[in-house]
Amino acid sequence: MIPPDTTSKEQSDMSTAGGLPSEPPQAPPQASKAASAEKTGHAVKLKNLNAYYGGQHAIKSVTIDFPPNEVTALIGPSGSGKSTVVRCINRMHEEIPGARAEGSVTLDELDIYDPNVDVTAVRRLIGMVFQKPNPFPTMSIFDNVAAGLRLTGTKSSDLKELVHRSLVSVGLWDEVKDRLNEPGIGLSGGQQQRLCIARTVAIEPEVILMDEPASALDPISTLKIEELVDELKERYTIVIVTHNMQQAARVANSTVFMLEGEVIEHDETNKIFTNPNDERTERYVTGKFG
Ligand code: ADP
Repeated sequence: MIPPDTTSKEQSDMSTAGGLPSEPPQAPPQASKAASAEKTGHAVKLKNLNAYYGGQHAIKSVTIDFPPNEVTALIGPSGSGKSTVVRCINRMHEEIPGARAEGSVTLDELDIYDPNVDVTAVRRLIGMVFQKPNPFPTMSIFDNVAAGLRLTGTKSSDLKELVHRSLVSVGLWDEVKDRLNEPGIGLSGGQQQRLCIARTVAIEPEVILMDEPASALDPISTLKIEELVDELKERYTIVIVTHNMQQAARVANSTVFMLEGEVIEHDETNKIFTNPNDERTERYVTGKFG
């Protein structure tokens, strides 16, 4: 069952799409699970999801099952609705003025849109990584990772170990262990993105949404993120939006092709790229449009 309301200013800042969070976290009560705990993934299901921006019907009766412990890629041309779908999964879509969603989104048995569900808790269970790395600008590397943990009431005596584990899990520890008190924004773009992923995994979400997490990064940093995604799926259910079809082919178990707000095809990644059922998918993956 979803925990009680723990709404905070800092978390609502994080829910503003792509924006830099502006203030340090404030501390609501909520027990944190140990970051070391072995996790199994959780299923996310969208059923007849419709999303609107004012009068614009952006997402049209989308039904997708995201299996546990798998990476599902969302591909499709710009404007096809990939980001909107992802933002509906952790209820960030409704933060945009005039935007609303209808239909069903479930995390295991939990109805994400149940009026009794606490939105902040949903966003804790369903973490998000954005295209542009967005470390808290005024915080050190350590505090960036600790921020979410503090927010969820982790004892300060446990922080060091949990921050350490999170940084190890994103392959960043060796690169930053001697500069933990330096600003997070002093890191390279690729390091900042791994720092943001460390911040996300530190609070042990069940699902991680990634909206083009590597599109602003150089090829080596991109490769590191892809390797990391592959490791993270052992513990999390991952949804990744990407414009890069090679990336989808490398990281995703299954791939969803979207066009004009609709799901055209969802199948095993290999099938989507080599033998899709729909002619529009075939034309897209072979670069004929988009
Ligand atoms: P994608 O991620 O595939 O590029 P989006 O989900 O961003 O697609 O966009 C889907 C549709 O919704 C597009 O027509 C886009 O113009 C519209 N849209 C996206 N964000 C907004 C917004 N904040 N306000 C109004 N319309 C939006």
